[in-house]
Amino acid sequence: MLKYTVLLLYLLTTSLSLLQANAHIFVYHRFGDTRHPSTNTSLKELQKEFNYFKNRGYKVVKLETLINAIKEDKEIPDNWVVLTIDDNFKSFYKRGFPIFKKFGYPFTVFLYLKATEEGYRDYTSFKQLREISKYGTLEYHSYAHGHMANMSEEKIRKDFDRGLAIFKKELGVKPKYFVYPYGEYNPLLERITKEYGFEAVLNQNMGAVSKGTDIFDIDRCALVGKPKLKTYLGFKELHNVEIIEPTSYPKSGVLTRVKAKVDKNAKKAFVYIRGHGWRAVKVKDGIIDYKTSKKIKGKRMKIGIQVGMKVKVKVFMGE
Ligand SMILES: [Zn+2]
Repeated sequence: MLKYTVLLLYLLTTSLSLLQANAHIFVYHRFGDTRHPSTNTSLKELQKEFNYFKNRGYKVVKLETLINAIKEDKEIPDNWVVLTIDDNFKSFYKRGFPIFKKFGYPFTVFLYLKATEEGYRDYTSFKQLREISKYGTLEYHSYAHGHMANMSEEKIRKDFDRGLAIFKKELGVKPKYFVYPYGEYNPLLERITKEYGFEAVLNQNMGAVSKGTDIFDIDRCALVGKPKLKTYLGFKELHNVEIIEPTSYPKSGVLTRVKAKVDKNAKKAFVYIRGHGWRAVKVKDGIIDYKTSKKIKGKRMKIGIQVGMKVKVKVFMGE
């Protein structure tokens, strides 16, 4: 009898975890460029990651395929992976791009247009971008790559107007997707982004994509250096988490409490504070109440909650 109960429990948990399948979107920046270790992926590492996808049954699909599946409210296959590249660096064109072509993997590059328009040394030209667009998709990352969550409405609109006009003029199309420079956003920027008619918006928060993902707040994990690829691929999206505290970036610059509502059956969770890593916390009656004293580094505060392998990270911007 015990044996059958165990088997039944096993089947139940397995099928429950299968209920929510999750795809993963990754973001790269520079390739084979040791001058910038915090945004670089070596070519050896890139091939290792691509071989991992290939040998472990992952299917690299177009960003559009995943976004359309979310829009149609379809189940998202667990083995889907989407590859994105931010910032149109020359190192992608010169070193990363040939490896993407070799594996035949689709990709999307999010463009920082001023860098190309003004011919910055580290960035691709429009001619190179047009060549790239035969193999992958080009989307929008801003005109001037500013800290848009700290800009006035007028300045934000100016940046969009200028960047989108250049995109259309040089590349002949209107972009459909947008990623926030530095992964920084606030309600004002979110609202303006929607007004400009983007179909989907991606952030740079660790996490996963599943049925019910907010199409205007799609998570991406950054792959730089020697990333924890297997951990990232194991992440599932934590739905229905409510962060009760903090509600905003602390004026004192010190975070004193993280309070959140999660699944009432959860016993244990992890809290992430950007710059301070993850910490195990107790859950009582579905409530996490973690008291601390953490100095926030910079204007971008990120708070993450993890229950099992389910993760959700939120961004709070300082002024
Ligand atoms: Zn960027």
